[in-house]
Amino acid sequence: EAMPSETDIQQALQKAHTQFKGTKEGKNADYIPYLATVDPNLFGLALVTVDGKIYTAGDAASPFPIESLSKPFTLARLMEEVGAKKVEDKIGVDATGQPFNSIVAIEMNEDHRAGNPLVNAGAITSVSLIPAKTPDERWKKISGNFNSFAGEPLSVNEEVYKSETATNTRNQSISALLESYKVLGSPREQALDLYTRQCSVNVTARQLATMGATLANGGINPVTGERVISPDTARRTLALMATNGLYENTGEWLYQAGVPAKSGVGGGIVAVVPGRYAIAAFSPPLDKAGNSVRAQRAITHVVNSLGDNLYAAT
Ligand code: GLN
Repeated sequence: EAMPSETDIQQALQKAHTQFKGTKEGKNADYIPYLATVDPNLFGLALVTVDGKIYTAGDAASPFPIESLSKPFTLARLMEEVGAKKVEDKIGVDATGQPFNSIVAIEMNEDHRAGNPLVNAGAITSVSLIPAKTPDERWKKISGNFNSFAGEPLSVNEEVYKSETATNTRNQSISALLESYKVLGSPREQALDLYTRQCSVNVTARQLATMGATLANGGINPVTGERVISPDTARRTLALMATNGLYENTGEWLYQAGVPAKSGVGGGIVAVVPGRYAIAAFSPPLDKAGNSVRAQRAITHVVNSLGDNLYAAT
């Protein structure tokens, strides 16, 4: 099917922004104290196509913490470095149907693995398995990978990192449990620290859409032309987003929007139409599952109005 025209795309973004900016539902995350302080009215949209064209509306240049949106990109790096088989064996690739910080999900699968790379347990395991001799080397790989996906250097929001480190007792419990089941590739304190750091990286909606567009484009960043990951890794990463990208609300999401996506408690969501484009949205107020309310509505609107629901025959 032909790509929608430039005017159609720009109008769809603008319309979604106008339509949902007044939405008052949802509430900023507050279990990470920093996130409670962010302006809840911020609302940005960005769409990047596989031929590198960029469209924006609203606060698309406002930086926000990437949080769980870091998970698919580090997972993709891990698959590149150690192969998909290791991820399948050590983490698991089925939907958990559970909240992002679930401990039950670890206990209920018979191997006591995380079950899925896009929940906290799976993402902490992913970080721990990135091959490296030192934590420093591991962090350089993780952050360098984000930069390649975004096509520009991203940096850690030190305030978020401190805020999250001071309050992440649930993630400490998850890490300890995983270590007891011997599924981590590095000591739990180190894995958790690097996971917390990766969650604290700042991105804008425009950068996030470029990261997503790299997945949409089979692993080549459409803005810089760099091959970041293989087509096989891109396809596998997108399949995992389709089954677990919005946690326990993933089924509802796929039913409404019809495209793989990933959310973060900073208020970002990126959705990918394979072979065409990625769209990112940012707005801090979240629903109960931890997914941005405005971002979900705006992306659903744009994807469906451009005729890109993957389950629609025409
Ligand atoms: N850093 C957050 C956490 O570990 C990420 C969660 C999220 O975005 N869903 O709780």
